[in-house]
Amino acid sequence: MDPTPRCLAFVVDEWFDGEVRHAGERTTFSVEDGRVVAIDSGDHGAALEAQGWRVERGAFLMPGLVDAHVHLFLDGAPTDTAVRAAHLKQGVGQLAEAARASARQALACGVTQVRDAGDRHGLNHLVREEARRPGSGLAQVRSAGLGVKRAKRYGAFMAMDVDDAASIRSSVQRLAVDGDEIKLILTGIIDFDAGAVTDEPQFDAAAARCVVDAAHAAGRKVLAHCSGAKGLAVAVEAGVDSIEHGFFMDRETLLRMRDRGLAWTPTFCPVHFQWAEPAAVGWSPNTVGNLRRILDGHAEHLRLAHEIGVVVLAGTDAGSMGVEHGRALVDELQRFVEAGLPLAAVLAAATSAPRRHFGDAAPTLAQGTPFEALLLGASPWVDFAALRGPLQVRSLGRMGCAGTTVAP
Ligand SMILES: [Zn+2]
Repeated sequence: MDPTPRCLAFVVDEWFDGEVRHAGERTTFSVEDGRVVAIDSGDHGAALEAQGWRVERGAFLMPGLVDAHVHLFLDGAPTDTAVRAAHLKQGVGQLAEAARASARQALACGVTQVRDAGDRHGLNHLVREEARRPGSGLAQVRSAGLGVKRAKRYGAFMAMDVDDAASIRSSVQRLAVDGDEIKLILTGIIDFDAGAVTDEPQFDAAAARCVVDAAHAAGRKVLAHCSGAKGLAVAVEAGVDSIEHGFFMDRETLLRMRDRGLAWTPTFCPVHFQWAEPAAVGWSPNTVGNLRRILDGHAEHLRLAHEIGVVVLAGTDAGSMGVEHGRALVDELQRFVEAGLPLAAVLAAATSAPRRHFGDAAPTLAQGTPFEALLLGASPWVDFAALRGPLQVRSLGRMGCAGTTVAP
C-alpha cells in the first residue's frame, strides 16, 4: 500500500481504453483527485514533475479488470473435497474473513471489481460495504446477495428457496432492496460422467418470467445460472439479463440472445480445471473425454457469440474447485484467446463490457472518468503474461472508494 498523491501522471508507451488499443506513440495521463483530467499525446512527464506532480512510467495502461462471476466466501485454492466441505461448515465470522481475503487477493491481481453471484449468508453485501472504505485494499463488489432456487434442488450454498408466484414476487422484492442484481438458479449442474445436464430446469418459463418481472420492476437485472438446452430455452424466453455458464450453447440461442440483448458469462475455469486436473475429482478417462468435448463446444460457441455480436462477460466462478480469486481471470481470458477471439475483444470482456452491463456511467478509460487502472510491464499484445503481474493497481474515486493503491 502506498498513499496516493493528489496529482499523479502516467507516461506509457501504449494503452487500451476498454475497447480500442492505442499504440504507436507515448501518451501522458494526468490524474487529479482520482479522476482522469487529461490524456495527451507525447511525454509530458518532465513538465508535470516540474509542477510537483508524481510521474510514473511504464509500457502499458488499461482499465482495472472485472471478474463478472465470483463467490467471495468460497476459497478456490483447496482441491480436496473434504477440505472444501469443512470450509462451508465454518462459522459466519470465518467465512466473512475468507470473503475479505478473496476480495484482497482479487485486487492484488488487478481485478478492481467483482460481481459476486451469490452466497447464502449475504457476506457479499458485507464485503461490498467494507470495500467502499478508503484504502480498503479490497476489490469493489457488485453483489447479488442470496440467489433464488427451488426447494431440494441445487444451489443451497448460495440461494434461498422460493415456491409459488406470490413467494417469488415477495422474495425478489426483498432481495432487490440491497442486492445489485437478482441471481436465479435456473438449472442444476452438469453431470460430467453423462456429459450432459440431466436434471429438468428448476423453473419453467412462466416462473422464471415472474422472477424477471419482479426484479425489473425493482430496477434490478437478473443473472441466471443456466446450462443445457432446456434451461437455455427458459432463460431466453423469460428474458433474463445474463446467462451464467451456458454450457451446451447453440447457434439459435445465441442469435436470440443477441436480438434480446442478453449477455453471456461462459465461465470456462471450473470445467477447465477438472479437465486439466482430473485426479482432483477422480474422473475416469471417459469423463475426461466428456470434459474436453464440452470445453471444445463451449469455445466454438464463444467464437460464434463474438462473431454475431452477443455481449460476452469474462467471469471465472472463482471459489469453485481450483479456481482462485484474482488469479483465475487471466486463465479465463486465455481460454477466450484460444477460442479465437481478437485480443481487444478478450480484454473488453473483462473491462468495458461488464461495466456497461452493470450500468456504469464510465465504462471506458477516458478524460473525466474515475481512474481505475493497471500499469503493466509490457503490452499484452506483445506479452500476454504481462496481465498476470501488474506493476501497479489503482482503484480511485469509483463507487465511493476514495483511494486504493496496490503496488506489488
Ligand atoms: Zn457461480
